[in-house]
Amino acid sequence: MASWLASKGFDGIPVRSLIVFGAKSILNFEDKSRIDQCVTPDFLPSHISSLQQQFSSKIISGEECRTISDKLLSEHESLEFNLLNYAGVQPAEIMKGARCPQCKALGMIRHFAVWVCLRCGCRSKNAAIHALIEYRHLYGPSITNHQFREFLNLESESVVRKILTANHLPHNGKIKHRSYFITNQILEQLKNKLN
Ligand SMILES: [Zn+2]
Repeated sequence: MASWLASKGFDGIPVRSLIVFGAKSILNFEDKSRIDQCVTPDFLPSHISSLQQQFSSKIISGEECRTISDKLLSEHESLEFNLLNYAGVQPAEIMKGARCPQCKALGMIRHFAVWVCLRCGCRSKNAAIHALIEYRHLYGPSITNHQFREFLNLESESVVRKILTANHLPHNGKIKHRSYFITNQILEQLKNKLN
């Protein structure tokens, strides 16, 4: 961060790292040395106050601060992170099937464009969208019809094609060997559909 700031012409700005968790849950740490760098939203105002006391002299103007903020946002890139590699999990170990949004059980069945949970009876039109988001987080942005069929435990190639095209996934290649992409933009659109 310090070198990024220097590359933008802002030298000598003190940098402190902080992770703010969206949930208010209690945090448990294996590495206790990291506790000071992590806060829940409740503690954010007091943490900022203590930083203001620690760094009381003004180093940059409000306008410079806004410039840095704009540059940070425009140059931000999402972290591409392979969860399976990180956790040492083989793809074959992932349990397959559409997940019920209510009881979280896997294996919803599709019945006339509606997904039905055999465990709790929940009916959902969005189970495939949840599955696309989960797939993206597990395997990355690239997906084929065959891969999504396996992930959903669904046999019908045409139904899966309908799901992928209805969600406007960009693609390349001819139909049989087509790869679709759950880009960052598509990922945001999928999440918005669930709100
Ligand atoms: Zn259920």
